[in-house]
Amino acid sequence: MDTYIVLILCFARGVMSCDNVVTRDQWGARPSKSINLMSTPVSFVFIHHTAMSYCFDQNACSQELKVIQNFHMDNRTWDDIGYNFMIGEDGQVYEARGWDRVGAHTHGWNDVAVAFSVMGNFNDRVPNDKALTALKNVIACGIRMGKITHNYKMYGHRDVRQTECPGNSFYALLQTWPHFGHTKPVKPTSSSHHQTQTSD
Ligand SMILES: [Zn+2]
Repeated sequence: MDTYIVLILCFARGVMSCDNVVTRDQWGARPSKSINLMSTPVSFVFIHHTAMSYCFDQNACSQELKVIQNFHMDNRTWDDIGYNFMIGEDGQVYEARGWDRVGAHTHGWNDVAVAFSVMGNFNDRVPNDKALTALKNVIACGIRMGKITHNYKMYGHRDVRQTECPGNSFYALLQTWPHFGHTKPVKPTSSSHHQTQTSD
């Protein structure tokens, strides 16, 4: 009977979650200072780069995540690492704030969007195929899980703020993707959440 229940749980997890997401426990995240939840599904997806180190295996990516989390929590004094998910050029997605939490990634949009940040600087080259596939897969998974609307719009950080993020090369590529928003995003006015954090 126990085996049977475990099999059912594994099946449910496979359907409802993103199979290859590296959890906070797995990469060694610090606990959050506080947690603010947002309504899902969201209609906006923002893409970032970290403009910091590249990483190509789980160990190096986990180390980089800790550096970024420490910077965001200690220097920026945010509640946690700013983004919802991080992606490495090892082809893995790393859980940051996850699907349901207000982030600190895209000023003015944190409570109505999820943000995916690829680790590295993508001004002069695009992320490798593994990272791009991981990004596409996690967005598709978010739609399956009911966290992102099926007709969502994708933007780069630079679309709403003076920044080169997510890098010139990466941004040019994103503009060719089907959900890219070619007109300025308009934030829904019905949101009852208020901004609790600024972000870069
Ligand atoms: Zn950014």
